[in-house]
Amino acid sequence: MSDGAESGPGAPAQPRLVREGVPASSGIGIGRAYVVDRRRVHVPRTRIDKEAIEAEIGRFLEALRDTRQEIEVIKTRLPHGEHRAILKAQQMMLRDPDLIGRVEQLIAEELRCAEWALATATDEIHDMLDQADDEYFRERSSDITFLSEQVILALLGDNPEEITPPAGSVVVAYDLSPAETVQLHRCAVAGIVTAAGGKTSHSAIMARSLQIPAVVGVAGILGEVMSGEVVVVDGVRGAVIVRPDVDELGGHELERDEYNAFEQRIQREHAFPAITVDGRRVMTRANLSLSEDIDLGRRYGAEGIGLYRSEYMFMNRDALPTEEEHYLTAKTVIRRYSPYPVVFRTFDLGSDKPSKLLSFAKAEANPAMGLRSLRLALREREIFLAQLRGLLRASLHGPLHIMLPLVGSVEELEDGIAAVEEARDQLEAAGMAYASDFSLGVMIETPSAALIADLLASRVDFMSIGTNDLIQYTLAVDRDNDDVDYLYQPLHPAILRLIRSVAAAGAAHDVPVSLCGEMAADPRYTWVLVGLGIKELSMSPSALPVIKHIIRQSSAAEMDALTAAVLEARTAREADEIVLEVMRERFPEHLKHGGGRSALVEEDDG
Ligand code: PEP
Ligand code: MG
Repeated sequence: MSDGAESGPGAPAQPRLVREGVPASSGIGIGRAYVVDRRRVHVPRTRIDKEAIEAEIGRFLEALRDTRQEIEVIKTRLPHGEHRAILKAQQMMLRDPDLIGRVEQLIAEELRCAEWALATATDEIHDMLDQADDEYFRERSSDITFLSEQVILALLGDNPEEITPPAGSVVVAYDLSPAETVQLHRCAVAGIVTAAGGKTSHSAIMARSLQIPAVVGVAGILGEVMSGEVVVVDGVRGAVIVRPDVDELGGHELERDEYNAFEQRIQREHAFPAITVDGRRVMTRANLSLSEDIDLGRRYGAEGIGLYRSEYMFMNRDALPTEEEHYLTAKTVIRRYSPYPVVFRTFDLGSDKPSKLLSFAKAEANPAMGLRSLRLALREREIFLAQLRGLLRASLHGPLHIMLPLVGSVEELEDGIAAVEEARDQLEAAGMAYASDFSLGVMIETPSAALIADLLASRVDFMSIGTNDLIQYTLAVDRDNDDVDYLYQPLHPAILRLIRSVAAAGAAHDVPVSLCGEMAADPRYTWVLVGLGIKELSMSPSALPVIKHIIRQSSAAEMDALTAAVLEARTAREADEIVLEVMRERFPEHLKHGGGRSALVEEDDG
């Protein structure tokens, strides 16, 4: 590795160089190169004893599972769509029976250690794919190498050496793991350039979600730039300029400043409430998955947490979270956001969020419709009660909201409420304190729940529409399957009508209705959602400033007018066209910079 080594004083001046790559994360970054020339992990090649075969295979399977779960955690930070689907495909690669079978065979028959067996099996697949004369296969081949390296690192229990570039540098690497990319974010780097990867690579995805300008897939770049040289990363167009001349540098700096000025302008207003110019108030809250992200919502001006995905407490670990852990986590988050509310969703495991810790969680033919979410919690009652007791105890520290996911009927809701009652009885019997004025709510993410929202509303204190699942179940379109992604249509008339009727049911019963699916983070949909009667939007924290800004620049009257027009549309495409025409005209910059910005930039470019 030659991290951070300056180019020698006597070295001859190299000419300016422009290289094309894949624009992976929008924005312009300018800084001195910090070259991380580390390509491969070291693979141990040791033979194991015959008696150790079973344990070695177990170790391998465990590492596969851990790597899949790491990808799962990354998935939660991303909006729905292409990128999540790709991560899902990578998770599936890690389940590939041919790969697993071959590794097991190499361990059992040739007594190779798991790392060696996996490296061999990967090389074999690599050779096969490389022969294919097709770019798709070549991209998959590089994915497999990368994934295999991640599994080997998990096997070695290795944290790769930490990369610590000076603030403002442009990191140039062969490839980066998601954890490394997060680390770069902490170091406040100006940009990222990688030799490997496409739009779909982990580093690209992470850079996008962390808003670091990035260009990936710049083959050969490692041999062309030295640490300390000036580099421009043009993440809007996918260009990397090494050693730019002075005039050119000035032009790029201007462009970068304009780009950043817009982001700063809306960021400055993040603490203002989201009120339209004619006085309609919209509450804007954050979605959180990990307690380590706890400050993000605050930083971006969230008025509380509209969705805390508690299921992530069950992932990437070997033991179930205890009642005490639930209590401490909830207490910390509640205190951090008090006096604003924090909505804890009880664990929503199963289907796309598996956990090895729950005995009922098993392979299912149709997991999205299987034993997941509240159904699983009601089956694993002791685990559910432990979580509920922990949450209830935290109510002493501020406004607690408990939310039950994937409810399909009044009976299911009543079963969930009965579990909450049981947890209260247990606390009382044990003499443990909790505040009795907590709120209980329900997620509306199945068509059945949406259609009986009036019946559910009479039993709860609040409702929250989970459009990610509501769209999946209503349109019968797997939310993570890119083959049917074109059918995943948020503005489908069926979805618009359901959202409208849930908002109306809430208003009729005086029960607040929030919306916490990815639609809330997409600037294209803000007017329509508010126009449909949604008064609370909860989204990934970084989307908050843009969405707030849109609301503050708009009138409720124009939102209602657009919504009325969209409700007349017969198809999702018609609705999309109506919405985009207005939103592009009114908010061209927001659409480029906002929560759904990568999708929109791609669209514009296309
Ligand atoms: C949803 O379904 O919209 C939702 C917010 O829950 P998740 O994405 O965690 O399933
Ligand atoms: Mg959901």
